[in-house]
Amino acid sequence: MLTNNLGYPRIGSKRELKKACEQYWSGNSTIQELVQTGREIRKQNWEMQKEAGINLIPSNDFSFYDQVLDLSLTVGAIPKRYHEVILNKGNTELDLYFAMARGYQKDGLDITAMEMTKWFDTNYHYIVPEFLKDQQFKLFSTKLLDEYQESVRLGIKTKPVIIGPVSYLLLGKEKESGFDRIDLIRNLLPVYLELLKKLEEQHVEWVQFDEPFLSLDLTEKDRKAFKYVYAEIKKRFPRLKILLATYFGALQDNKELALSLPVHTLHIDLVRSPEQLKEILADIPAYMGLSLGLVDGRNIWKNDFDASLTLIKSAADKIGHDRLMISPSCSLIHSPCDLELETNEAVLSAEIKQWLSFARQKIDEVAVLNELALNIKTAIPKLKANKIANESRKSSDLIHNNAVKQRVAGITVEDDQRKNTFAVRQQLQKQALNLPLFPTTTIGSFPQTQEVRSWRAKYKKGDLSAEEYNELIKKETEETIRFQEDAGIDVLVHGEFERNDMVEYFGEQLAGFTFTKNGWVQSYGSRCVKPPVIYGDVYRPLPMTVKWSAFAQSLTNKWVKGMLTGPVTILQWSFVRNDQPRSETCTQIALAIRDEVVDLEKAGIKIIQIDEPAIREGLPLRKSDWQDYLQWAVRAFRISASGVKDDTQIHTHMCYSEFNDIIQNISDMDADVITIECSRSQMELLDAFANFKYPNEIGPGVYDIHSPRVPAKEEMVFLLQKAQKVIPSAQLWVNPDCGLKTRHWDETKKALIEMVSAAKVLREYVEEAVTL
Ligand code: GLN
Ligand code: ZN
Repeated sequence: MLTNNLGYPRIGSKRELKKACEQYWSGNSTIQELVQTGREIRKQNWEMQKEAGINLIPSNDFSFYDQVLDLSLTVGAIPKRYHEVILNKGNTELDLYFAMARGYQKDGLDITAMEMTKWFDTNYHYIVPEFLKDQQFKLFSTKLLDEYQESVRLGIKTKPVIIGPVSYLLLGKEKESGFDRIDLIRNLLPVYLELLKKLEEQHVEWVQFDEPFLSLDLTEKDRKAFKYVYAEIKKRFPRLKILLATYFGALQDNKELALSLPVHTLHIDLVRSPEQLKEILADIPAYMGLSLGLVDGRNIWKNDFDASLTLIKSAADKIGHDRLMISPSCSLIHSPCDLELETNEAVLSAEIKQWLSFARQKIDEVAVLNELALNIKTAIPKLKANKIANESRKSSDLIHNNAVKQRVAGITVEDDQRKNTFAVRQQLQKQALNLPLFPTTTIGSFPQTQEVRSWRAKYKKGDLSAEEYNELIKKETEETIRFQEDAGIDVLVHGEFERNDMVEYFGEQLAGFTFTKNGWVQSYGSRCVKPPVIYGDVYRPLPMTVKWSAFAQSLTNKWVKGMLTGPVTILQWSFVRNDQPRSETCTQIALAIRDEVVDLEKAGIKIIQIDEPAIREGLPLRKSDWQDYLQWAVRAFRISASGVKDDTQIHTHMCYSEFNDIIQNISDMDADVITIECSRSQMELLDAFANFKYPNEIGPGVYDIHSPRVPAKEEMVFLLQKAQKVIPSAQLWVNPDCGLKTRHWDETKKALIEMVSAAKVLREYVEEAVTL
C-alpha cells in the first residue's frame, strides 16, 4: 500500500507567496527574489511530506498564480494579445504569465487580463483558457519538467501533476463560433506526449493526470476524447505509471468509462461519495489500482479513522493491499495550511481545535491511516486519540443546542411563506412606502476607505475604545446618509462601515461559529480568504444589525434599507460542520436571520435586504442534484424573509450569475424586489427574467461598480430603456450592480448623481406619455 498526496497548498503557511508576488508586482522586489520564495516553499512542502511518510509526493502543484494558467503556458495556448508582451525586451516568461493573469499596462500597451471563473464547486478561481477554431498548441513552458528536476536534485523523486487534456479543454472557452473545443484534442495531445517523453527521459515513475470532469455530466464526444487520449498515452508509454485523479463527486454514469481507461491507478473521492467504493470494487479491472480519497481536502474536520479503516478493509479484502493507495480526497489547496499555527485560544478554543485538521495534519492522517491499515502497532495510540477527539465532538454541548434543534423541527408551512401573495403585498407596500416610479437605491456598502479600515484595526488592537470607534463609524454613516439625501436617492442605506466582511460580520455574532488566525485558503492569484468555521448549532444570541440600521433611520425622513447576508451565502462561504446535512445547518442560519429581520421591522425598518450572491454558486456539479439543493436553499431564504408584515418590503441581491436555468427558483424566493448584476452584459441577463415574466420587482444594475469609470447619465438611460422593453415600468428599480465598498468616494458620488438623473429622465418620459 502506498501513501499518496494530490497537491499541497502553495501560498505558504504564513502567506509567503502572496507577499512575495505582491512585492514583485509593485516593483519592490526582483524576479530573483520571487523565484527564490517559490523554490523555498516547494522545498519545504516536499521535505515535510517526505518526512511525514508520503510515498507519492506531488510536484507542479506549485503555482505562482493558478495551475490552469500554468498549463495554458505549458501547451502554448497564449492568446494573441499577449504576444507583444513576449516581444518587449526585459520581460521573462513569468512576466508574460502575470500579464495573462492580471492584464498588462506598461510600455504603451494596455492589454486586458484573461477571464477568471470558479474551479468546480470550490471558492478557488482559475484563469479560463481561450481557444480559437484553428488553435495550435506547442510545448512552451517547461515548468513541469523544471520542478520535477528540482525535486530530484533535492533527493525527492516526485510525481508530477498535470490537468488531463480532456478536463483542460473542457475548462476553457471558445473565443469564436463554429467549433467545439473538445475537437481540439487531436491538436493538444501531441504536446502532452512530448512532455511525457521528456519526463520519461528523466526516469519519472509516476504522473498524475487530474480529470475532475469524470465526476460531472459528460457528452458522448467527451467520453470518446477520454478513450482516445488514454489509449494513445498507453500505446506510447506502456511502462509509465499514470494516476488518474477524479474528485469532487462520484463517477456515477462515468464509472464504466473511467474503469475502461488503461491507467495504472484510479483515484476516487470517497469523502463526497463513500458509496461509490462498492460499485467500483465490483467492476475494477485486474490491472488497475485504486487510490482511496479518504481524508477530506475540502473541509477542516479531523478524519474519522474508524470509518476510513472500514473502507480500506473492504477494498483490501477485494483487491489486496498492494493495489491500494491512501490519499486525501482532492488537492489540499482547498484547506488552510497548518492548525499548529492556531495558538491563540481566545480565537480558536482548545476544545474546538482538537476536532480540526488542516493540510499539514491531513498529510499525517494519510500516513497514520496507512500504518493502521497495515496493523503497525505503534500507530494504535493515534487511533485511540482520534477516537477520543471525535467522540468529544459528538457529545460536546458546545455543538448541540436542543432549543435550536427543536425550533428547526417545529418549522411549519406558514413559516416559509409571506402572509399574502406578492400582488397583495405590492399594493400595501406602495401605500406604506410611497416611493416614486423607478425608485433609486444602492446595494448596501459605501466606500471602505483606508481610514475606515484603520479604525477597525486600531479598535481590534485596543488602540481605540469601543466608544471612540463607534463615534467614528457614526460620523461616517451620518455623512453617507446626508450624501444620499442630497443626491436624491429614494431608498437609503447606512453604508456598512462597521463590517469587515459580509459573512464574517454575522459569523462573529452568531453562536456556532468560530474563526482562525491563519486559516487562509487561496481564492485566486495572491488573494486568500479565511472562511469562518461553523462547528455547532447556530442561533442568534442578540440583535446583530439593529443598532446601526435604527441609528441610520433616525437621521432621515427617507427609508433606510436594513442590510443582511442570507443563509445560503453564509453557509457557502464558511467551512461547514460535516456531522449533519448542509441543509440542516442552512435552516438554522435561516432562523437566526429571520430573528434579525423581525427585530429590524420592530425597530421601524420598513425595507430589508437579504443578500444571496452565492445562491447560484452553491449549485451541485451534477444537474440531477440541482433540484434537491434548490429546494432547501430557496426554503432557507424564505424562512429568513417570511416573519414580517406584508407592507414590509424584502429585497434580495445577487451578483454576476447566469439566471436562465434557475429563474423559477429565484422567483420562488418571492423577494419583493431583487437587484441583480446586469450592466456588464448590457442587460442581457434580464432576458431570463423577461422570458419568464418574473412577477416581482427588479433592479437591474445600471452601472459596473467593478470599474472606477464614472458612467454618463445617457448610458444609464439607454440601459434602463432597454430594460423597460422587457420589464414593465412599475416593476423597475434603479441601482448600481453591486456594493460600492471597493470604490473611491469621488467616483461613487459622481456616478450616483448621474444615476439619479437617469431615473428622473425616465420619470419625465412617463409623465409626457401620460399627458399626450
Ligand atoms: N450588501 C453587500 C454590499 O453592498 C452586497 C455584497 C455582494 O453582493 N457581494 O457590499
Ligand atoms: Zn453583489
